[in-house]
Amino acid sequence: MQGTLRKQLLNTLSGLTPPICPDADMDDTPRLDACADENEYASRVVEVGMQLALRRRMEARRGEIEDALARMDTGVYGVCEDCGDDIGMARLLATPTARLCVHCQSERETAQYLRCA
Ligand SMILES: [Zn+2]
Repeated sequence: MQGTLRKQLLNTLSGLTPPICPDADMDDTPRLDACADENEYASRVVEVGMQLALRRRMEARRGEIEDALARMDTGVYGVCEDCGDDIGMARLLATPTARLCVHCQSERETAQYLRCA
C-alpha cells in the first residue's frame, strides 16, 4: 500500500510548479507609474498578492510531500508524531501527507479553535 501512496505523492509533486529559484527576479511589485490609472494599479496589487499566496501554498505543499517521502524512506511513515500509534489507512489514503492520527489531529484542531474563540 505504501508503494501506491508513494506513487500518488510523486505524481502530485511532479504536477506542482518548479520550486522558486532564489536568484530569480522576483520583483513583481506593481508600480503606479507603469499603470494606466489607480484602478489598474489596485488590480495589479491584488493580482500580485494572490500570485504570491499561491506560490507560498505551493511551496508548503511541496514541503509536506517531500517530508512524507522522507518519512517513507526512514520507516516512520504512517506513525502519528504525537502518540506513536499507526495512522489509519483510510486517513493516509485521503491525506497521504498526514503526520497525525485522526484523534491527535482532532485534539490539535479543537485546542486551536479554543485559542481563537
Ligand atoms: Zn496520534
